Amino acid sequence: MATARLFGKPIADALNAESRATVTGAGPGIPPPSLVSVHRGVDSPFRFYLRRQERAAAAVGLRFRDEALAPGAGPSDLLARLSELDRDPSVHAVLLEHPLPAPFDFYRAVGALRPEKDVDGVGTQNLGRLVAQRPIHAPAVARAALAIARHYGLPVEGERVVVVGRSETVGLPLSLLLAGKAEGIHATVTVAHSRTKDLRAALAGSRTIFSCVGHPGLLTRAVVPEGAHVIDVGLSSVPDPAQPGRSIAVGDADAASLDGWAGSLTPVPGGVGPVTVAELMASCVRAWQLLTAREATEAR
Ligand code: NAP
Repeated sequence: MATARLFGKPIADALNAESRATVTGAGPGIPPPSLVSVHRGVDSPFRFYLRRQERAAAAVGLRFRDEALAPGAGPSDLLARLSELDRDPSVHAVLLEHPLPAPFDFYRAVGALRPEKDVDGVGTQNLGRLVAQRPIHAPAVARAALAIARHYGLPVEGERVVVVGRSETVGLPLSLLLAGKAEGIHATVTVAHSRTKDLRAALAGSRTIFSCVGHPGLLTRAVVPEGAHVIDVGLSSVPDPAQPGRSIAVGDADAASLDGWAGSLTPVPGGVGPVTVAELMASCVRAWQLLTAREATEAR
């Protein structure tokens, strides 16, 4: 049995086209959505994502700018800047680099944003709303994994699925979405993590596996049940065996081991990544719609 590759491009293209149509369809004189990405500056590994955000924003008609914290800026400077962005009516969406090193407190900082502007849905207000099944924004990566499962018709509704990884920004929100009551989901969810004693036993009987770890080679045919579908959210950079001195992106799945064993597999790169960026842009457009509608109501 050949293992199908679940590419993200068709889903990302459709989402981006929808976002672009919404933005260009707004009446004349309405400024387009504006996204600000806040980060620590030149040393930040987040820089890689900034270029991707910039390209995606241009493709759907969003205004984008990135803001580096001034050298030596501390937690109170970050809080003050995020509070300003929250009050600024020309900014509809804000992203904050994650994780942030000590002494920064990511949750305190992102808490300065109203939930509409916290477009990656990682602040405690949005996460709490997710638990209450009323998210304004859920993390883009979690929505992307779900969008792939839906697009390719993977077994999820009423099925036993496993999420490997339980971080507050990826694994946990995804498990909440999967266990939720949205149409076509209602999964029976197991969450595995670094203290899970027997990963093979945790995965046994699952039909769809979402891996959100960042540990290349974690998923092989020794642990994945035959025929299971694998959505590989993990993203790690490893040395490129073909080009010494260069690196390549890999997921958690050992594709060579799973070929001919798993039912299907998202490639890395080219699987979850492009859909995540498209979902993020869609959240920015939604933030813009919500905030513009509120402004119009308040002006009446
Ligand atoms: P993280 O905060 O480091 O969390 C990793 C999770 O994996 C933790 O819950 C950890 O368990 C668990 N884990 C570690 N080793 C394990 C093992 N041997 N077996 C089972 N579980 C294990 O990382 P993250 O921010 O959630 O990101 C997860 C991955 O997704 C990373 O590779 C990241 O780069 C990737 N990512 C991809 C996208 C995309 O668009 N494709 C977007 C965002 C993130 P504990 O909780 O017990 O420590």
